[in-house]
Amino acid sequence: MGCAAHGTLARTMRTVPHHKHAPNVYASGPLDRADRIRGDQDALSAAMASKTARLLPVWRGNNLVQMGTVMRGWTLQASRTDLITQSTLSVFLGLDATGTPHFAIDLSDLEEPPEIEADTVFEDLRKVGPMLGDDDGAVLAYARGLVHWHRRHLFCGVCGSPTESRKGGHERRCTNENCGASHFPRTDPAVIMLVHDGADRIVLGRQKEWPPGRCSVLAGFVEPGESLEDAVAREVMEEVGLPTADIRDNSSQPWPFPSSIMLGFSARATAEEMTVATDEIEEARWVTRAEIAASPEDETFALPRRDSIAYRLIQDWMAEG
Ligand SMILES: [Zn+2]
Repeated sequence: MGCAAHGTLARTMRTVPHHKHAPNVYASGPLDRADRIRGDQDALSAAMASKTARLLPVWRGNNLVQMGTVMRGWTLQASRTDLITQSTLSVFLGLDATGTPHFAIDLSDLEEPPEIEADTVFEDLRKVGPMLGDDDGAVLAYARGLVHWHRRHLFCGVCGSPTESRKGGHERRCTNENCGASHFPRTDPAVIMLVHDGADRIVLGRQKEWPPGRCSVLAGFVEPGESLEDAVAREVMEEVGLPTADIRDNSSQPWPFPSSIMLGFSARATAEEMTVATDEIEEARWVTRAEIAASPEDETFALPRRDSIAYRLIQDWMAEG
């Protein structure tokens, strides 16, 4: 199929910033975000007019993917003017290694997801993310996150007037000339922490709405006026009643479901007996390395999904044992 080579996201050498370990899924995507172009109307117009530009459509939170033996993120040629005219928004995402501009376009106002190619379909990244390559996952997450932000910031939070997209979709500005407030894409910081006993056990908990058996480490949103370490200690105390020490950072992960960044930590519990806040989590318990290694991955006990930083925190701790 000739079009496949043109449609799938470019595979490029990743220019990964220095991490202690490999980057997490959805992080360190292959596009140069090219901030210089966002504020340069001539350069932006040239990018939008480029016949080689690639479009990443988003329909109601779903990204376009190509099904098949290998699932891939799918892009469209900029010549698909039929779709461009139906989109309510286009966002400049950046340039790939060949300098080709990439744009997210929002098709959410269409009643049904448009049919693009016979083997493509709009899917929720939350569902298909683990099946995609890391580069595709990162770019689709970026497109999804920005389109989500735009659709929830159509009106100014200061005066209530309509806002409009600026800077290639990286800002919204209030159209009321007496206000003119600028609004920027938001990312909500959440801490996620592996609580251990300094030896061979960690705390795993589960929320009622998770699939049966699924367990994970604890997590919660950072509140105003808190350091990340404060948030780790508070959340652990709130959820399972354990005091903590030795709070250490691990890595971070964009989690655009819908707009979080997960900041990964480990913390050593200085007590053993838990008091579980059952309004937040259904249950929590101490689990050993041997129990984790023998996880049946079924309705009795399953680890977090493989594309999550929760899984990575557990794997890093397992490797220390
Ligand atoms: Zn305003």
